[in-house]
Amino acid sequence: MKFAEETSTVNKLNLFDRMAEHEQVLFCNDPSTGLRAIIAIHNTTLGPALGGCRMQPYESVDEALEDALRLSKGMSYKCAAADVDFGGGKAVIIGNPKTDKSPELFRAFGQFVDSLGGRFYTGTDMGTTMDDFIHALKETNCIVGVPEAYGGGGDSSIPTAEGVLYGIKATNKVLFGKDDLGGVSYAVQGLGKVGFKVAKALLEAGANLYVTDINEESIRAIEKLESSTPGTVKIVASEDIYSQEADVFVPCAFGGVINDNTINQFKVKAIAGSANNQLLHESHGKKLQEKGILYAPDYIINSGGLIQVADELYGVNHERVLAKTKHIYDAILEVYKLAEADGVCTMESANRMCEKRMASRSKRNGFYTPTVKPKWAIRK
Ligand code: NAD
Repeated sequence: MKFAEETSTVNKLNLFDRMAEHEQVLFCNDPSTGLRAIIAIHNTTLGPALGGCRMQPYESVDEALEDALRLSKGMSYKCAAADVDFGGGKAVIIGNPKTDKSPELFRAFGQFVDSLGGRFYTGTDMGTTMDDFIHALKETNCIVGVPEAYGGGGDSSIPTAEGVLYGIKATNKVLFGKDDLGGVSYAVQGLGKVGFKVAKALLEAGANLYVTDINEESIRAIEKLESSTPGTVKIVASEDIYSQEADVFVPCAFGGVINDNTINQFKVKAIAGSANNQLLHESHGKKLQEKGILYAPDYIINSGGLIQVADELYGVNHERVLAKTKHIYDAILEVYKLAEADGVCTMESANRMCEKRMASRSKRNGFYTPTVKPKWAIRK
């Protein structure tokens, strides 16, 4: 077996050192279905761990473990910032999503999730779909983000876009003293599920947009929309979006978009968009600060989808989710205020805010044990 030799070289001390910040790591092995997965639980101070399940043909166990550890830690911060009473976790399945999936594999995965007795809730991520988790749902209740027909909240890009708009409002409040969306110019990158909804709301508010997408259909759709709104749209080439003379850059396409190359081109006053992992390296947060560009930390401004899946356990209620999404406005304002007070970049102040939330609760909650069932977990 390809991985057997490799795991034997990871001595126990090394493994424990690597997971020093984590509470628990579960290696899931089911030869009959071919399941090889890792579930990492980073911190359950604020509640049971929550995080999606990725499926990827990782080159090694090492790489898969690294991803699970890194992403689960990120989820602790994201949950703390969104105030959803969940901690951070993540699962990775080692395999090719195009060729290695089967209903049995996801049922086996569901059994491992269930074995954690409520310490870990999961759902879709890169390489997995809601349909995969319908199989896992037969083995465990600890699945969120399921289709509406199965009691889920449905399309998470709706609350994600709503959250981005709240983040932009908070940003405008700091930039211009008022949180109106209109009368401001934006450079929107990506008109997909989230970006299109954000662009539409900005146009309806009377904003001036520079937009780009590699998908011609999305471009035609936004051009068509322009005529029925008070806003304006200018289409620009993919590579030109970074240098537009706009007030706010709204990245809604892919990660790593804030890097040395783009920072040199930016003329905007702020960056506020949905893309995950926008900073190519942590140091780019500081570089933005030095250039005087206000940055809405990605894991806070794009947490509307997380708020929806976390809320699903109360029973589906779109109004309640949208009401909770408003919290993003306050969180972004708090991060900006803290950054100014501490003289640090906004990513650093966001991390500090989350660490403080986790530390302040740890005396009361600490390690989450499944015997303490969340009152709001209504699914039996
Ligand atoms: P999507 O795939 O629907 O949209 C991405 C859009 O970006 C597509 O229209 C694509 O054509 C466009 N694009 C890709 N490369 C481009 C390029 N070089 N230049 C211009 N446009 C380009 O994805 P989405 O669900 O809208 O998510 C957008 C971003 O937000 C992603 O980074 C995603 O991880 C993040 N995010 C999404 C959600 C959600 O609920 N959907 C939640 C949190 C974070």
